[in-house]
Amino acid sequence: MDIIAGETLQIFFLGTSGALPSISRSLPCILLKWGSHDLIFDCGEGAQRQMMKARAGFSPEVIYITHWHADHFLGIIGLLQTMSFNGREQPLTIAGPDCVHEMVADIKRICRTRIGFPVESQKVRAGDILMYEGYSIRVFETDHGIPGVGYIFEENMRPGRFNRERAIELGIRPGPLFGKLQRGSPVTITVDGNERIITPEMVMGPMRPGRKVIYTGDTRPVLSELADIGEDADLLIHDATFDHQEVERAKEFMHATAAEAGIVAHTLRAARLALFHFSTRYTSTETHVADARVHFSGEILAPDDLTVIDIPFRNV
Ligand SMILES: [Zn+2]
Ligand SMILES: [Zn+2]
Repeated sequence: MDIIAGETLQIFFLGTSGALPSISRSLPCILLKWGSHDLIFDCGEGAQRQMMKARAGFSPEVIYITHWHADHFLGIIGLLQTMSFNGREQPLTIAGPDCVHEMVADIKRICRTRIGFPVESQKVRAGDILMYEGYSIRVFETDHGIPGVGYIFEENMRPGRFNRERAIELGIRPGPLFGKLQRGSPVTITVDGNERIITPEMVMGPMRPGRKVIYTGDTRPVLSELADIGEDADLLIHDATFDHQEVERAKEFMHATAAEAGIVAHTLRAARLALFHFSTRYTSTETHVADARVHFSGEILAPDDLTVIDIPFRNV
């Protein structure tokens, strides 16, 4: 059994604009920090400066690209160069759909200067589940006119609640044996001269789901792709390039409106919805939030650049 020792889970919205940057919004880039693991989702231009401003550190293990529109990957070049000058030696993986191997080869070629650490490319396809220690990344297909995917970060199941009273009732004294049971190992105790084995199942509640974060990248709503795998997320970060007034434009350019993002969040029973990838035509996100609110009663965020949020464990 994989035990999660209360890792922190934070989302840094490093860049929140659509295809064009504005004075206040940089190009799409999200950093997910889980414990000591840093994962980047899309890497728009200027990503490394946004990481500096957010004091986010510079140690991504993987950069996950949703699709190969330039607003989602041009930041890789600068980030590689900055990390190389900073003396990074740790390998980096750039994962993405479609032509990821060619794109990473091109990026390395453009960099010219020698990058002082290994950079690998990894091709992902819809349906893939990439397993890591303590969490997985699921890949789903998006609908944006070019090959594209979204990603679901999901922690492994975590142990159920420890029933302290029940453990004492069974004859276990508070102390190291409690911890052993909580870590999933049986313990042997002696009660009235008889040995008794207490298994974790006798004192632990049912396993609890880990936390889940979905990032769609640019896309029309893809509820059918997310059915089953996308339900009950702690956070859904959804394309909301346009407000509801521009729904026809959203269809034409294969993006989503904030209202459509609200429908997806409601249908999938997400706890929180973060609207993302705002077009520069808007100077405020009030209409976006109001549009999403029509369909979704959970918490709605319209994050500015450098917004950081914590994803706590659910109280189950
Ligand atoms: Zn985009
Ligand atoms: Zn795009």
